[in-house]
Amino acid sequence: MKNISVIGSGTMGTGIAQLLSSKNYNVVLFDINEKNLSNSKIRLHKILDKLLHKKKISKNEVNNIISKIKFTNKINNLSKSNIIIEAITENFELKTKLFSNINKIVADETILTSNTSSLSVTSLASSFKNPNNFIGTHFFNPVPVMNLVEVIPCVQTSNETLEQTIKFIKSIKKDVVIAKDTPGFIVNKVARPFYSEAIRIYEEGLASIYEIDFTMKKFGQFKMGPFELMDFIGNDINFTVTKSIYEKFFHESRYKPSLCQKSLVEAGYLGKKTGIGFYKYDKENNIYKSKSEFKSNTYLYENIFLRIISMLVNEAYDTLYYKIASKEDIETAMKNGVNYPKGLFEWEKEIGKKKISTKLVALYNFYCEERYRLSPLLNKDVKLLW
Ligand code: NAD
Repeated sequence: MKNISVIGSGTMGTGIAQLLSSKNYNVVLFDINEKNLSNSKIRLHKILDKLLHKKKISKNEVNNIISKIKFTNKINNLSKSNIIIEAITENFELKTKLFSNINKIVADETILTSNTSSLSVTSLASSFKNPNNFIGTHFFNPVPVMNLVEVIPCVQTSNETLEQTIKFIKSIKKDVVIAKDTPGFIVNKVARPFYSEAIRIYEEGLASIYEIDFTMKKFGQFKMGPFELMDFIGNDINFTVTKSIYEKFFHESRYKPSLCQKSLVEAGYLGKKTGIGFYKYDKENNIYKSKSEFKSNTYLYENIFLRIISMLVNEAYDTLYYKIASKEDIETAMKNGVNYPKGLFEWEKEIGKKKISTKLVALYNFYCEERYRLSPLLNKDVKLLW
C-alpha cells in the first residue's frame, strides 16, 4: 500500500493525514473547500510546533511530516490511490455523491474506507463502483493520540479487503477491533448507558450531577464523570449520537434520548465550548463548584455506581450476544476508544454476574420498562433455552 489518500481536511482528515505521514506514508489530502484546506495546513503546523516545543518530535520529523502531505482541491490527484480514507461531513447524500465522482477516476483495485460515525457502511458501499472493496474505518479524535480504530466490514466487503485494511491499520500502529455494521459500532453503542443512565438518575431527582460525577470517579475510577464528559464532548454532539442510535435501532428504549439534554441543546448550553452546559464554567474553563450539592450518603453513591455499571455491562453483553464484536474487542474498544479504566467484562468479574443481574432485574421490576431487561447472556438460565 503505497499511495494513500484522505478526503476531507477537517478535524478527522487532518488528524489522519498527520498520523499517516508520521508513519512514513505519502498522503494526498483532498478537500473541495480551499479555505478548509489552508486552515488544515495552519492547524497542522500549530500542532507540530507545539510537539516540537515540548521536545516530543525533532525539527527533522516536523519537516518530514509536512513534506509528505500533498494538500489538494483537485479530485484527479486521487487517481493513483491504493487506499482512500473518506472523512468528509457526516451526510449520506454528500458522501454518496463524492463516491460517484471517485468511481470515474480510481482503479478497480482501490480500497475505499469511510470514517463515518453513524451512517450505515452497507448503504454507503452500494454507491462505490466495487462494493467488495468498501469498508468502514472509524478513527477516534484526536487521531494521533487515540490508539483505537474500529474496522467495520459490511455485507459487501470481501475477505481480502478486510485483511488488507487490518494490515494497513496495524502498519500505522493502531489497535484494531472488528465491529459488525450496526449503529454506533462498538464504542458509541456500549458507552450509551454511561450518559443516559446518569441523566435518568438526575432527572428522577435521586442525586445531583455533582454527586453522580463524584460517584463514577470515586467508585469507578473514571477520569471524568458522565456530566463532565458530556459537557466536554458537547451536548449537541452527544445528543445527536444518542438520537441517531435510538432511531437506527428502531426506537429501542435502552437508547432513548433525554428531554433534559434536548433542552440544553435548544438553549445553546452545549458545554465547555459555550461556557455553560450541565455545569457553568469560569473564565479559565473550570467548573464552578457548589459544595451544598453533596450529601454524605455512601449507600446512595454505591447504588448509583452499581446501576450505571450494571447497565454498561448489560450493553456489553448484548453487543457480544448479537455478535457485533468479540469479548476481547469490546474490552479493547472501551479501554482505548473512551479510556475506560477497566473493561466491562473485567468489572463484571469483579462485581459478580449475580449482583449485576439482580440489580437489573430489580430495576426492570420496579420501573416495568424494557430499558432494564437483562441481556440473554447475563441471564443465568440462558443454557436452558438452547
Ligand atoms: P469536519 O466538519 O471537521 O470536516 C469535514 C470536511 O469535509 C470539511 O473540510 C469539508 O470541506 C470537507 N468536505 C465536505 N464535502 C466534501 C466533498 N464532497 N469532497 C471533499 N471534501 C469535502 O468533519 P470531521 O469532524 O472531521 O468528521 C469527518 C467524518 O469523521 C464524519 O463522517 C464524522 O462522522 C467522522 N468522525 C468524526 C469524529 C469527530 O470527533 N469529529 C470522530 C469519529 C468520526
